[in-house]
Amino acid sequence: MLRTLARGLRRRCPGCGVGRLFIGWYQLATRCEHCDLEYEPLEGNSYWFMYYSTAIFTGLIIIAMFLIQPENIWLARAIVLVAAVLFIVFTLPYRKGLALAVDYLTERADRATRGNPSQPESDPKKLSEG
Ligand SMILES: [Zn+2]
Repeated sequence: MLRTLARGLRRRCPGCGVGRLFIGWYQLATRCEHCDLEYEPLEGNSYWFMYYSTAIFTGLIIIAMFLIQPENIWLARAIVLVAAVLFIVFTLPYRKGLALAVDYLTERADRATRGNPSQPESDPKKLSEG
């Protein structure tokens, strides 16, 4: 399990650890070039992770801004803000990779408990449309 998460953090396929998750910086590949694993069979499964991790970072930044009491508060806040944005953007693929690894683990656990290797009978993508 930790190995799968580490693969995600290294931006590698959670299944085999060889294929790359991203084409370039943040363009997600649809399938693994090595084992043909579909990375995001249910698009949006990793959104919650991205949403919460960004929200947590933003919360920490706001707290940091209130705690900082330098002579020039606006300059300090500007520096913190720029650093924060750079940090959020820089960690984006790593967090996405981790989210996909978590998604892969939960999907696999779901299939194991159901004992059914096929896709779930109801497709959430179709339900959410319209
Ligand atoms: Zn793979």
